Amino acid sequence: MLKGRAQVSCPYCGGKAVRSLSGSDINRGVTDVVFHQFRCTKCRLRFIANPPDNLPEYYGSEYNYPWTTLENLDRIGAPLERYKIDLVLAAKKSGKLLEIGASDGVFCRLAQQAGFDVHAIEMNQACVNFMNDTMGIRAVQSDDPVAVLEVSDERYDAICLWHTIEHLPEPWRMFELAASSLAPDGVLVIATPNPDAWQARLLRARWPHHDLPRHLYLLPIAWIRDLARKSGLAVDDITTRDEGSLFWNKFTWATTLRSWGKDARGKTKLWNAGLSLGRMLNPLEGREGAGAAYTAILRRPH
Ligand SMILES: [Zn+2]
Repeated sequence: MLKGRAQVSCPYCGGKAVRSLSGSDINRGVTDVVFHQFRCTKCRLRFIANPPDNLPEYYGSEYNYPWTTLENLDRIGAPLERYKIDLVLAAKKSGKLLEIGASDGVFCRLAQQAGFDVHAIEMNQACVNFMNDTMGIRAVQSDDPVAVLEVSDERYDAICLWHTIEHLPEPWRMFELAASSLAPDGVLVIATPNPDAWQARLLRARWPHHDLPRHLYLLPIAWIRDLARKSGLAVDDITTRDEGSLFWNKFTWATTLRSWGKDARGKTKLWNAGLSLGRMLNPLEGREGAGAAYTAILRRPH
């Protein structure tokens, strides 16, 4: 058992790490176990020093849930994720695209409709089946995308990780493999929580984007920038102001207020109040670098 004052080494750079916060699974309440998040004093990477052995149990069968029909996916799911394909299309118009952590396949569907040859890696077998059988996407079932890429000689024009990399045991390994799996002029798109967000400092262990213990790591913007440089990728853009990142700001307040609700009706009211609060706070957390999440668009040179 780790004590609060324990010092451990950074699993990435070996630097001295100090405890940044401790908390339990406030988002899903799977157990009351307390997890300790540490911050490396050298590279600033955040990591859970005592990740659970039974991590799959913290996801559960409903974490990624397949759509029952393609019609529902197109009507309900697709409008919410259209900003993602718009963002990718601004950087890359066509080619072979891989999504890592494709979940229910909504983004894959949009990429397919935009003309990409879409491949996917996803841990949920039902989602993988839906993508393969109903959507005609080449989806592979695995909770170890590093192992999948290690034995693949495919080269991709775009590789996307939408809020996936923070769930992986060695995010730098995932990053390096993705970088080396890009075709010349290919783009790597990574969206992930911003540990230096304004609201993260305010809410500390109550910040939902810590998502203990599912978020094994939180990657500061400067850390991603440094890894991109070491991997030979150019930075097209790293922003906390894209549509998805701005939504995660409001999500924080909605989900925090909703947790105070006593019944379904109260929870809905508080959720909407939280969205309003998020809109009011936009002048503060809508500033570049201050938001709850960021999206990095990185490019392999020709
Ligand atoms: Zn470090």
